Amino acid sequence: MVPAAFEYRAPTSLPEALELLREHGDEAKVMAGGQSLIPLLKLRFAAPAVVVDIGRVPGLTGISAGGGTLRVGALTRHVDVERDTGLDALCPILREAAPQIADPLVRNRGTVGGSLCHADPAGDWGAVMLALDAELVASSPAGERVIPAAEFFQGPFTTALRPDEVLTEVRIPAAGAGQSAAGAYLKLERKVGDFATVGVAVQVRLANGEVERAGIGLTAVGPSSLKAGAAERSLAGRAPTDEAIAEAARLASEAAEPRDDIRGSAAYKKDVVRVFVQRGLRSAVARAQEAAR
Ligand SMILES: Cc1cc2nc3c(=O)[nH]c(=O)nc-3n(C[C@H](O)[C@H](O)[C@H](O)COP(=O)(O)OP(=O)(O)OC[C@H]3O[C@@H](n4cnc5c(N)ncnc54)[C@H](O)[C@@H]3O)c2cc1C
Repeated sequence: MVPAAFEYRAPTSLPEALELLREHGDEAKVMAGGQSLIPLLKLRFAAPAVVVDIGRVPGLTGISAGGGTLRVGALTRHVDVERDTGLDALCPILREAAPQIADPLVRNRGTVGGSLCHADPAGDWGAVMLALDAELVASSPAGERVIPAAEFFQGPFTTALRPDEVLTEVRIPAAGAGQSAAGAYLKLERKVGDFATVGVAVQVRLANGEVERAGIGLTAVGPSSLKAGAAERSLAGRAPTDEAIAEAARLASEAAEPRDDIRGSAAYKKDVVRVFVQRGLRSAVARAQEAAR
């Protein structure tokens, strides 16, 4: 199908983009890589009067570390994460998740910010950012607002962003002195390039041989990307023993709210969550212990 007619605007600065959003309100739609928006326009599930293409806005791409924070610009493409070897030491879960998203064509154009703003419950970055306790930075004509990932996803394809806001950056906290951190992303898909049947993101921070903090995010097993809070809390302050990991995996499985569909039954998906959380935690702990050596 052909999209309904819309006005196309391509601002060359953030203030210009924000002014367009202020002017047109919810009649406008931001476009980043267009990998989700363009199909929606073609199917006429979305029919905005104005499309604001932010692809020419400078300063929204790139990954940088400093001051205890890893910053990922909203327009950073999936492929940029996939190819950034520096992330292996800084935040391995990002490079593990990126190549599991879609196919090379989509990864070459789709952006981290676009994926988060699209808020598909089966989108992979949501669970990763929940596990990392990331913060999402939104800009509007009123200024900047920092939204914890745990408050960002509000339902299927629904976020805490207002129509006049642009997501500009994702901030990921780094491990502090005396701590080591690492994560893992596990995805079950029917075939390469498919959306997840189940995805699990885990991140652990170790200090003195104990789990100082654990983050667990779940993909495609609920109305949005889910944070398995009880499972996370069950590990805090404990040694990462087999028993502690098994208990966290059981709690994460309880937190999952999957549905029966063509990808599998709800009971099957819950069990995949349990198994993946167990495997993910073991890998993450091993990586964090290795990083501490
Ligand atoms: C065939 C196919 C397979 C895919 N498989 C997967 C998969 O396995 N896993 C996965 O995670 N994803 C998958 N995707 C989705 C893909 O990751 C998209 O790249 C992503 O969902 C959207 O990113 P984008 O930059 O293209 O955003 P766009 O399509 O441009 O925008 C998506 C939405 O976000 C809004 N938006 C975008 N950027 C911003 C911003 N900075 N501020 C405010 N609002 C913004 C737009 O208004 C729109 O509503 C797939 C897509 C396709 C077409």
